[in-house]
Amino acid sequence: MIVRARTVVTMDGPPIENGAVAVSGNRIVDVGRFDDIKTRNAGNTLDLGEQVLLPGLINAHCHLDYTCLRGKIPPQKSFTEWIRAINAEKATLAPKDYIASINEGFAEAKRFGTTTIANLTAFPELIPQIQPPVRTCWFAELIDIRAPERANELVDAAIESLGRARPELVLSEAEGGAPLGLAPHALFTASKDLFRRCGEIAQREHILLTTHLAESREEMEMFRHALGPLYEFIKSIGRPMNDCGSTTPLEGFLNLIGRGGSPNRLRSLGFNVCLGTDSLASNESLSLFAEMCAFQKEFPSVSAEEIFQMATVNPARALRQENALGQIRPGFGADLITVPCSGSTNVFEQIIAFGGRVPWVMVSGKT
Ligand SMILES: [Zn+2]
Repeated sequence: MIVRARTVVTMDGPPIENGAVAVSGNRIVDVGRFDDIKTRNAGNTLDLGEQVLLPGLINAHCHLDYTCLRGKIPPQKSFTEWIRAINAEKATLAPKDYIASINEGFAEAKRFGTTTIANLTAFPELIPQIQPPVRTCWFAELIDIRAPERANELVDAAIESLGRARPELVLSEAEGGAPLGLAPHALFTASKDLFRRCGEIAQREHILLTTHLAESREEMEMFRHALGPLYEFIKSIGRPMNDCGSTTPLEGFLNLIGRGGSPNRLRSLGFNVCLGTDSLASNESLSLFAEMCAFQKEFPSVSAEEIFQMATVNPARALRQENALGQIRPGFGADLITVPCSGSTNVFEQIIAFGGRVPWVMVSGKT
């Protein structure tokens, strides 16, 4: 089929006015000016009219487990208080609640134009029971603070669960789908052994790794000065605290993964900045448009185009999908969305200013 729109933003060259995309099966096969696409390709035309056609958005970090906690945890005074509040809520939930929560989260994310999600789940054993409506990179989130002697066991069980993820839209890297990953939760909840085991397996099995690092001032206080509410809370759980009192979380992390050195070099290393929504236990929606808008308010000197890259091209690269997702290009997965044309002269400003549900979405060639 041929999908035509007033403007096509490919992220692979300048936007195309009166553009069109030819889709065959689950792939994009051609993109360009509507007249040229019509000449080169057979098939029915779907004319989306006065809309901007864009690559589907990629959420680089979220926890759909907690979609059901929407509005339940008011903003807390501190990160430690937030952890206590979410732990109290989690104690009331059963596996069936988490399954409903994850499904609800997928549906909401898709309504906001997200076609690929890097989703951390604390319940990898539930993955086989879920059929995601968008491409999903499942990360098994692992915490061993209460039983560090079981680190290896925990990782091995997670790998087994990940292997049972349903194959729909969770394809191998070569097929352009999303791979699998491990998420040792954070430096303060995952032991060194757990990080090491995840690192070894990731390297051996070519799977992805993600973690939470330097999220709060309290985490900085804990590692740098062995002080503060997070330090006291984590200590009370029984974690050995002998790595606290000298380094920043980032220094500690770089030492742990054997890349010790000054964090000041990070900028020059060209970090690949991506946007994510985190969960509804700490955010109001699963919309990446809202995240792009919030980023723009915070960093007005960054161009709208660059911000849009943080929800398309950059996370595609982070998930090792840069040759399959995040752009409208021949051979790429047919993940497409639209936003209405608003009349603003800069198309990227129009995209970032869009606040609602997307009018049209295609995932892997299907609407
Ligand atoms: Zn998170």
